[in-house]
Amino acid sequence: MSAFFDFAVIGGGLVGAALARGMAREGLSVCVLDEGDVAYRASRGNFALVWLQSKGINMPAYANWTRRSVELWPAYAAGLLNETGIDVSLQQDGGFHLALSDIEMERLIAVAEGVNGQPGVKPYPYSVLDGDEVRRRLPGAGPAIVGGTYSPLDGHVNALRLYRAMHKALIAAGVDYRPGSRVARISHAGGFSLSIDGGGEVRAKRIVLTAGLDNARLAPMVGLSAPVRPQRGNIIVTEKAAPFLKMPVQTVRQTDEGSVMIGDSQEEAGLSEDINSGIMGVMADRAIRMFPAIADLNIVRMWACLRVLSPDGFPIYDQSKTHPGAFLATCHSGVTLAAVHAAVLAPHIARGTLPEEAQAFHAGRLHVPKAA
Ligand SMILES: Cc1cc2nc3c(=O)[nH]c(=O)nc-3n(C[C@H](O)[C@H](O)[C@H](O)COP(=O)(O)OP(=O)(O)OC[C@H]3O[C@@H](n4cnc5c(N)ncnc54)[C@H](O)[C@@H]3O)c2cc1C
Repeated sequence: MSAFFDFAVIGGGLVGAALARGMAREGLSVCVLDEGDVAYRASRGNFALVWLQSKGINMPAYANWTRRSVELWPAYAAGLLNETGIDVSLQQDGGFHLALSDIEMERLIAVAEGVNGQPGVKPYPYSVLDGDEVRRRLPGAGPAIVGGTYSPLDGHVNALRLYRAMHKALIAAGVDYRPGSRVARISHAGGFSLSIDGGGEVRAKRIVLTAGLDNARLAPMVGLSAPVRPQRGNIIVTEKAAPFLKMPVQTVRQTDEGSVMIGDSQEEAGLSEDINSGIMGVMADRAIRMFPAIADLNIVRMWACLRVLSPDGFPIYDQSKTHPGAFLATCHSGVTLAAVHAAVLAPHIARGTLPEEAQAFHAGRLHVPKAA
């Protein structure tokens, strides 16, 4: 007789891994069905910022949700270290957006004021800096920098170690992790039955869809909607260098191991994961204008990876009215939100609800008919 889990989590990316560990820690039996690296997988190619500033324009709930997560991150990183022995190298001493022209500088200020000026937003702390002040705070910053904004709450982690730690933590929490298990179909009768590609079936009382881009296909099977699309991002990685950049910039950061990562474009390219050398050139040029020493570093890797984006760019958290017990969670900042997913969203879903702060993220907001 096959096992009947309290919860089956469909997808073991950053979102599914954070939720599964959190739900198992509530004492539930949890299974993660994960297609694995053959799938489109944003979690394997991201820029690893834990980032608040500029987020949440037109969506105060998102500004506050992100704020909650960045504040939870130190405890989350400490918990992962404790459970797995893996240090994800959270550095959260602040981060910068930098401007290379007056127009860019005006935009940075307008976005910061726009986010913080919204009713209901707990304003995030930030300072507006001129070029000299940026160069004082970031030795190595070049003369082309006109200015920037700095927020003390921003930071970054080691991307690969984070993913490894999250998977090790879910195993440690007792989750039954099944790689190579692509869910082909979901049916609902006395619980959920998940058909696995190539044969096999898994049964669970409740499910969470965390399958990234494949949520768009799976969600309608349980009365949910996930109109997500791919958005391509390119990343460049250099050889390791002596530390010169002690805090991350939104598009340039030096990892704890010394590599410089240059990110991360936003392209509508369907499901293509081809790198775009034209855009890579622009990214590299901007990075060198910000930090001239980068010009002397060899590039060792470049890749393109697909973001999972909803029409308005904000997360979708939902639960099905027609198929009680079916939940959906998807977002485009799964590193930043991992802490709030594990500490807040997971315990609520384990109890069969969504937290008050996440109510605004239902998919219904995306289906409001436009006025004629
Ligand atoms: C270039 C780039 C830069 C980024 N930078 C940042 C950043 O700096 N900070 C930040 O917070 N976020 C960043 N992100 C976003 C972050 O990576 C994503 O939000 C996050 O990875 C989404 O995780 P996910 O689990 O929802 O989706 P995915 O990572 O896509 O994972 C989905 C999982 O579901 C599995 N799956 C798919 N279909 C099925 C199925 N039918 N059955 C079973 N399993 C299935 C896949 O194998 C995969 O493991 C970036 C993303 C990109 C692409």
